[in-house]
Amino acid sequence: MSDDPGPEPADEPFHDHDVERLVADIDLDPFLGRRHDPLAEPLDEPAEVGAQAPPLLALRDLIADDRFPELFARALRAADPDFRELFPRDATPVLREFVRAMTWAFETTEYADGDRSKVEEVVEFARHLGADHRKLDLAPRHHQRFGEALTHTLRHLAGRGWDDRLETTLATAYRVLSTALQQGAAAGEGPARVGATVVEVLRPTRDVVVVRLISDVMVDYHPGQYLSVLTPYSPGVWRRLSPSIPANPAGQIEFHIRDVPGGALSGSLVRGVGVGDRWVLARPLGLLEVDRSEPFRDVLMIGGGTGIAPLRCLLLDMMRHGQNPRVHLFYGARFPGDLYDLPTLVDLAATAPWLTIQPVAEEDEDPWWAGPRQELPRTLHRRQTGTLVEAVTQWGSWADRQVIVSGSPEMLRATVRGLVAAGTPRENISFDRP
Ligand SMILES: Cc1cc2nc3c(=O)[nH]c(=O)nc-3n(C[C@H](O)[C@H](O)[C@H](O)COP(=O)(O)OP(=O)(O)OC[C@H]3O[C@@H](n4cnc5c(N)ncnc54)[C@H](O)[C@@H]3O)c2cc1C
Repeated sequence: MSDDPGPEPADEPFHDHDVERLVADIDLDPFLGRRHDPLAEPLDEPAEVGAQAPPLLALRDLIADDRFPELFARALRAADPDFRELFPRDATPVLREFVRAMTWAFETTEYADGDRSKVEEVVEFARHLGADHRKLDLAPRHHQRFGEALTHTLRHLAGRGWDDRLETTLATAYRVLSTALQQGAAAGEGPARVGATVVEVLRPTRDVVVVRLISDVMVDYHPGQYLSVLTPYSPGVWRRLSPSIPANPAGQIEFHIRDVPGGALSGSLVRGVGVGDRWVLARPLGLLEVDRSEPFRDVLMIGGGTGIAPLRCLLLDMMRHGQNPRVHLFYGARFPGDLYDLPTLVDLAATAPWLTIQPVAEEDEDPWWAGPRQELPRTLHRRQTGTLVEAVTQWGSWADRQVIVSGSPEMLRATVRGLVAAGTPRENISFDRP
């Protein structure tokens, strides 16, 4: 037998069908000024439109149709070349977020029943989103094309069920929302994006990294706020991360990031991040804060996994004050060894008589496969076993506290639901929506 492995793959000539396969996916029409309509063919089975339903709810049902994200992504890519970058082939997760937001906006407006504050809540949300969109550098043209693509997609989905009533309602709703989005973007101060360099990477557990960066210009975020971040590990994917230390003039920022299985960014970030990498940070957003108005109201903080980051930032900021409200912090994770930030929190509590820490882990023991763990310090309260919501609500309703919750979408849902069921007034609970 010959040992010759044959020609290197690079020496293989390109065949015509390879080239055809490569270019088949590239649609040059928008770049050549041609407007190709990917939704020209009517659907075999248009969505049902309830003729008797109020128009906002009929629009909500059309947007909730399973086919909407895919059809809308196609319409957007055809509407403007810039949307090809903003909405890549796998735009479905982003568009599902859009569906969720529009469903909430349409329902809140429909059921407002004359309550202007409800409608103002929707407009305020759109302004907030617009402030975040500053990082995308959108022009009025983009808003117009987005609206046209939305109308086109819904009309296509409804088929013969589309009528003037839906067209007019959608036009009005979109005008209000896109105006608020543009107002939000215009109101933002400071640069829309700031570069930052990774200067240190720590790996406290198998699936968490602590990344320290120095930003080119100080990003003046409030403790508890989050930043949208663009990294080189998953190009074009913006994700929100919460700094775990307060802003400082040296531009030092620290993030804690967990690898979410199946996620678009976190896995490649946790595996790939290295010193010298360049990130882009957008302006800060988010409303988590400790109410310091006097007389102080005690605080209950509940942090799961890397959700500890913004709470730790709030605590570090509180250390700068002589007087503070009492804080009871429940810090939870799946396994005891995943409570990677406990040493820092215990150090803080040692000099802060107002701070009590209660560690919680769902399992009692670390699994063998989790690898070597750091020795965790003892806390005043012994570690409890169970979920965070179980650990917190066994002590009652905490009705007199301001409550701040931070963690995964699942943990937030379970914790807020459990607290409300235990008697905590919903308006006392703050968290940033996933
Ligand atoms: C206000 C805010 C602040 C955040 N701060 C941090 C932070 O400081 N550190 C951090 O690690 N993450 C933080 N996140 C989550 C982060 O933005 C990403 O959603 C997360 O890193 C997953 O991104 P991905 O691209 O890998 O997964 P995606 O592709 O976005 O999502 C994959 C799936 O995982 C779910 N998912 C998203 N986040 C989590 C999570 N934390 N746990 C379990 N499932 C999840 C999503 O709902 C989705 O179903 C924050 C999110 C918000 C809204």
